Formats: sequence, structure tokens, C-alpha cells
Amino acid sequence: MTTLSKKALQSTKFQPYWLDNPIRPDAEPCLQQDITTDLLIVGGGFTGLWSALQAKEQNPERDVVLIEANSIAIGASGRPGAILSTSLMHGMTNAERLFKDEMEELEALGKINMDEFKETIARYNIECDVEWTGELTVAVGKHGVSEVETEYKLYKRFGHDAHLLSQQQIQQEINSPLFQSGLWSKKRSGTINPAKLVWGLKKAARNLGVKIYENTPMSSSKDLEKQVVVITPNANIIANKVILATNAFTKHKTKISCRVAAIRDRIVVTEPLTEQQLADLGWKNRQGIYDTRTQLNYMRLTKDNRVLFGGRLGYFFNNNTDPQLDKTAVPYVRLVDSLYKTLPTLKGIKISHAWSGPIALTTRMAMHFQHYHKGKMVYVGGYSGFGVTASRFAAKMVLAIVDNEDIPGKNLSFTRTQPLWLPPEPFRWIGSKITMYALDTCDEKKGWRIPWLKFVDWMGFPLTP
Ligand SMILES: Cc1cc2nc3c(=O)[nH]c(=O)nc-3n(C[C@H](O)[C@H](O)[C@H](O)COP(=O)(O)OP(=O)(O)OC[C@H]3O[C@@H](n4cnc5c(N)ncnc54)[C@H](O)[C@@H]3O)c2cc1C
Repeated sequence: MTTLSKKALQSTKFQPYWLDNPIRPDAEPCLQQDITTDLLIVGGGFTGLWSALQAKEQNPERDVVLIEANSIAIGASGRPGAILSTSLMHGMTNAERLFKDEMEELEALGKINMDEFKETIARYNIECDVEWTGELTVAVGKHGVSEVETEYKLYKRFGHDAHLLSQQQIQQEINSPLFQSGLWSKKRSGTINPAKLVWGLKKAARNLGVKIYENTPMSSSKDLEKQVVVITPNANIIANKVILATNAFTKHKTKISCRVAAIRDRIVVTEPLTEQQLADLGWKNRQGIYDTRTQLNYMRLTKDNRVLFGGRLGYFFNNNTDPQLDKTAVPYVRLVDSLYKTLPTLKGIKISHAWSGPIALTTRMAMHFQHYHKGKMVYVGGYSGFGVTASRFAAKMVLAIVDNEDIPGKNLSFTRTQPLWLPPEPFRWIGSKITMYALDTCDEKKGWRIPWLKFVDWMGFPLTP
């Protein structure tokens, strides 16, 4: 299989498929002179743009500035599988692990968030190829079957339109010899083109008067008692309040990296399928799919009928967010192997794009807030690969925190508590290398990998093999 996979990667572009689009807007000019503002947002991904948009919607008079170190959507937001989910806490099982007593409120807030997400996209007329086809969790192996059944009960308990599919039914949805059962949550989820959404949010925010500067990294900040000064290469910004929407990027505030690791997740995208390939695959209902393997894989179709297949983790020393190795074929060979094993009718299909992105892993695996400069600067992030819709809610909450406003959910535990501290380098790098290797090989080889992954689980990361 590996030889075939290497061949499939021979003419691949090592860049996100989503960003390889002629409609990608030009970057805004960088900041050249000192300014003052009511609200400064640092980071031009989903979190930053949802914050900017909602800040202006709530108070059109407020002056809002957003700075982006590179270009809009260059971080995780231009790189995800972009399977939409109502969960604010990285799935219901994770929410139950963390905040069992607050599930009712979290689930209700998640549903409202998804409805508002949908409504906002329609209101601003953002064309982003959204397909409301639902999310499908598929069981691989016996362990997976019981995992899916447990999750089904949770979905039903919290009123989701969830359906349990037998092996025969799942085979009718998608042709994979590996899938043994499935859980299809039909309403309020689906897939989207993430880059088109970010670009649409940028346009909407600019139309409301948000000033955006690209290629303008924040290098440091200082407390001025009543305000904060943010330093960028060519100019300083004095702001009453600052939101750090920088997720896995931690260089400008190394304290964030005590709780956030820039773990990378990898994706490959095939050439567009022919009609025959599509017919052989089934997948008429075009759901976003996750499987239950220890090294989880997820997959979806794009608008032009390519298969996007993701889910092989990596980590580079010192939270490196631009590793050169991930712009070569080497780290994607196993992922293509896995694609061919999962969907064998596509064996040999060429890979048009392959890339990785930083998922901001924390022991919570979901959003948290960090306060700086006596609360005038607040960081929000740490979605751990589950933030396309949750980031909209996180933006609403971080605005309520900096504005000192009371909104539903503000008193729940997730706003007041933090994920655990992570080991510093070089222990983080060594630990993650062993963990990645164990994840890659655990399902086939077991052995020492099981106690190791249990140990990592005990440290706070839910990786139970
Ligand atoms: C491979 C992959 C697959 C994923 N799949 C899914 C999925 O299927 N479903 C889902 O819900 N989620 C998924 N996610 C997660 C989702 O993409 C993220 O949670 C979400 O995009 C986070 O948005 P963000 O704006 O917080 O972070 P980012 O998009 O990373 O934005 C942070 C921005 O801050 C900028 N920045 C950093 N430092 C500075 C500085 N000093 N000054 C100025 N700007 C700075 C960066 O350049 C970057 O643009 C996936 C992520 C990855 C990487």
C-alpha cells in the first residue's frame, strides 16, 4: 500500500485546498502609524472575526481594530475538515467528562449558537458551500460499536435528531469494509468551506466599520493602568480592551503555551471523483464523518466532489506553527494508506492537496479563557480541533467577559476554570513523539502502547485506547 500512497503524493500541492482559490481576497495593508482604539482583536481566524463582527453588531459606535500577523485564515481557520457540530465542548462525551452537571445548559447554548451561526451566514449572504447533511460517527472495531451506542444514548438524552445505524445500514450510506455501525445526527450539523466563511466574515466586519491590518504581528504588550499598549513592528496600538484570538499561536505570550500545545493535525484531499467513483462509494447523503479509531480519522466531500480525509497528529519542538516537514510528502504517506484502507474503491486515487494545521490542544480539549493586564486583555482558544462553530460562541463569551456583561452561560464552570498545565520542553516534545507513535500503531500492535496511552489519559488527555 505504501508504494501506492507515495505515488499518489507525487504531484501534490502541500498547501490547504481551501486557500488555493482565485477568489482569495488580497491582504489589507499593514499598520504603519500609532493608533488608539476601544477594542483591539489580535488574530484573523474564526475567533477574531466573529469577535469583531459581534462587537460591532452589539455597539456600532465602538471603534474596533483587528490585527493579523500574516493573512486572514492562514491559521487553523483556513485548514480544517470543517465538519460542523453543535457541541461547544469538543463533543458530548468530552462535555460529560468535564462538566457533567452543566450538560443541559451547554447543550442548549450549543443549539442556539448553531441556529445563530446559520442565521448570520444567511443575513450577510456569505456564500460558503454549506451543506446541512448532519454528522455521522462510524464504529471501527468492537470497541467502536459500544462507543457509538453510548454516544447515541447521550444524543437522545439531549434531544438531538440522532439515529443508530446497523452495519447493513451504514454500508448503504458509505461503502467501507471497516465501518460496523453508525450514529447519524441529522439536524444542525453538516459541512462548510471554511476559507470562504472566514473571507465572508472579513467582508461583513469591514462593512460594519472594523479596521483590519494584515501582516501586523503583535510582538508584546504593556499595561498602562487604564489601557493596554500593543507593540507591532511599525506602530503601537493603545486599546481599552484587547482580545487575544490567537488559539495555538503562543510566541507573543509564552504563558499561553503552559496550557496550550500546538499539536498539528493533517489532511489530504483527492482529485475530484468521477461519477463512477462516486457511485461506487455511495455517500449520497454527503455527511461529515468521524470514526472511532484511536488515531481518529474524519472525512467529507467537497463541493467539487473530492474526498477530504484527515486525522494524523504531529508535534514540532517548541510549539512550532510552521514546520517545513509538513510541506513534504513524508508525513502524509500513512494518512493516504489509511484513506485507501477505509475507502478501498478509491485505492490509487491521486492526492491534489495535503497540509497540516495547529489544533491548540489542551487537557480540556475545548475553549478556555486566560486573563492578562488585570483583565483588560483576555485570551480565548484551545478548541483542540473542534472550533469551527464553537469559536462563534467563544467570541460572544469573550466579548461579554471584556465588557463585563452578563449573558447566558457566563456563570458556568468553563468560563471560570482552566485546563491543566502541560509539561515544558523538552518533555513535551519527547512525550508527544511517543504518544504520536503509539497512536499511529496502537490499533494494529497494542503492547506497551495501551499502558502509555492510558497514562496520557490519566494526565488529562482523553485518549483511552
Ligand atoms: C487540520 C485541522 C482540522 C480541523 N477540523 C475541524 C473540523 O472538522 N471541525 C471543527 O469544528 N474544527 C476543526 N478544526 C479546528 C478549527 O479549525 C479551529 O478550532 C478554529 O479554526 C480556530 O479558530 P481561531 O480563530 O481561534 O484560530 P486560528 O484560525 O488559528 O487563528 C489564529 C490567528 O491568529 C494569528 N496570530 C497568531 N499570533 C499573532 C500575533 N502575535 N499577532 C497577530 N496575529 C497573530 C494567526 O496568524 C492566525 O491567523 C480543525 C483544525 C485543523 C488544524
